[in-house]
Amino acid sequence: MVLMTPVMIMGDESAALRLDDVHRTYGTGPEAVRALRGVDVAFARGGFTAVMGPSGSGKSTLLQCAAGLDRPDRGRVVLDGTDLSGLGENQLTVLRREKLGFVFQAFNLVGSLTAEQNVGLPLRLAGRRPDRAEIHQALAAVGLAERARHLPSQLSGGQQQRVAVARALITRPKMLFADEPTGALDSTSSRDVLTLLRDLVDRDGQSTVMVTHDPVAASYADRVLFLADGTVVGDLERPSAQQIAERMTALETAA
Ligand code: ADP
Ligand code: MG
Repeated sequence: MVLMTPVMIMGDESAALRLDDVHRTYGTGPEAVRALRGVDVAFARGGFTAVMGPSGSGKSTLLQCAAGLDRPDRGRVVLDGTDLSGLGENQLTVLRREKLGFVFQAFNLVGSLTAEQNVGLPLRLAGRRPDRAEIHQALAAVGLAERARHLPSQLSGGQQQRVAVARALITRPKMLFADEPTGALDSTSSRDVLTLLRDLVDRDGQSTVMVTHDPVAASYADRVLFLADGTVVGDLERPSAQQIAERMTALETAA
């Protein structure tokens, strides 16, 4: 099979990911919902960005489009120099597998597999035999070297989410996407997971985008992007949890 060469977009080399005038409407006619209405944003390489906004403002849709899980109706998404709109479904699947990592609120670990087997899964899916040392290094990086043989049910919520982070990073993704990664955790476990994400950015330059509704979680990021009604309405650099909470209150009052 001959794969089409992905279109390379030059310029703005500092961005790991860019959305140019992205629109996404669900449904048609009077029932249509304009979830994204012209989003322009660039995510810096090695940066940690939080995306916030009232419920229904388009955060999940933005993440889905950015991660090639959904397609914009208009505009384009450029990931690591590749315009995703030029890719077919199979190419998008390969790109997601090789270049992106995902962490979800519900951990999404396979319950019948041990921590180390879960971490090795993305490599198996990519047709590689997982290397023991590589997996142990990944588990050690999230502080769980001693839990390699445990099943998810034998781990706390925070530990399970750290296994999910190790799994997301085993392919050394260009971008890590996290959708409400602390939404199911207590405050102590949340802090562990957020400190881990922060360390990965500081230590390894891991580009990360995290959707959250929690101002404390967002305050771990370098930059917080605010969405309302499908557009970017604000952007704060290194804000405190207090500043973030104030901005959110203003947006929710306006909504
Ligand atoms: P958020 O994550 O900020 O809560 P979403 O991106 O999930 O927002 O949703 C944005 C808007 O699009 C909302 O009005 C939501 O109801 C609508 N929406 C999301 N997904 C769908 C879908 N699959 N079909 C129809 N409407 C949708
Ligand atoms: Mg959402």
